[in-house]
Amino acid sequence: MTVIDLRSDTVTQPSNGMREAMANAPMGDDVYGEDPSVNKLESELALRLGFAKALFVPTGTMSNLLALMAHCGRGDEYIVGQQAHTYKYEGGGAAVLGSIQPQPLEVQADGSLDLGQVAAAIKPDDFHFARTRLLALENTMQGKVLALEYLAAASRLTREHGLALHLDGARLYNAAVKLGVDAGEITRHFDSVSVCLSKGLGAPVGSVLCGTTDLIAKARRLRKMVGGGMRQAGQLAAAGLYALDHQVERLADDHANAQLLAEGLRAAGYEVEPVQTNMVYVQIDERAQALKAFAAEEGIMLSAAPRLRMVTHMDVSRSQIEQVVAVFSEFSRQ
Ligand SMILES: *Cc1c(COP(=O)(O)O)cnc(C)c1O
Repeated sequence: MTVIDLRSDTVTQPSNGMREAMANAPMGDDVYGEDPSVNKLESELALRLGFAKALFVPTGTMSNLLALMAHCGRGDEYIVGQQAHTYKYEGGGAAVLGSIQPQPLEVQADGSLDLGQVAAAIKPDDFHFARTRLLALENTMQGKVLALEYLAAASRLTREHGLALHLDGARLYNAAVKLGVDAGEITRHFDSVSVCLSKGLGAPVGSVLCGTTDLIAKARRLRKMVGGGMRQAGQLAAAGLYALDHQVERLADDHANAQLLAEGLRAAGYEVEPVQTNMVYVQIDERAQALKAFAAEEGIMLSAAPRLRMVTHMDVSRSQIEQVVAVFSEFSRQ
């Protein structure tokens, strides 16, 4: 039985073309700055996203951490979504390792932060307060795409208040493909951007942080400090380069599969949230564990949550989505 794993888009196997690119990658010691494949990935992505420099790191968590620590010092503050990955799912790293105070705000239904609330949360220059330095946004946010006009408004607001603007763009390319724009149209509003290669893009490992020359120099120092300086990392960078060249446009297939899944589940009586990219959220309530076990018997791997998240990716085909819909239909008839 082939397994259909819908828990996340991190579960993909490297494609044959990617494996070949990895096998043939020229390598060197990246801590010495001598890995040609890493250097190529960094310069290529910086160029494509409109930044001076970029830095290859093992994970998106490290990429965001380095960005936060490069923008903010001890006792500084960043404004972030209550449900954002950087705040909620990264072990509190910015606070633990960077002594950076988060100012979380509730995320709006469309995945954005209300800019009025952001403005109100920026603290005046007064020694009673932490210094508000940065606004961090996430795109896509739980599969939702932030509008370009919103990004422009966020950029204006942060510039008016002397704040930096960081994007957790773990799924930047899902947003770009959904909007039908060059990813640079999104990233041009930001001072730094973190991109995951290991999500929908299908690379086994790796993220890239993009920013100014000064910011990336700070991040490079911090990367060594937190143990993220890798040596012959060129194979991993080659996977990332391959993904950027060959596996971006196909994200549209994942989005179409997510729509198909949502429509099928709605037809079977499930309450499904509107879908924009590759994430489908379904209200399962107290049946979560039972559904997970039922699906597992049919080779479908799910997380168990009352608000179930299913993520489409390159290792799930359209016909497998139809299988999933059939299994959910059977479960609901029980
Ligand atoms: C996955 C993810 C990250 C970082 O993930 P790692 O597992 O550390 O690579 C950051 N932000 C978002 C929104 C993510 O989905």
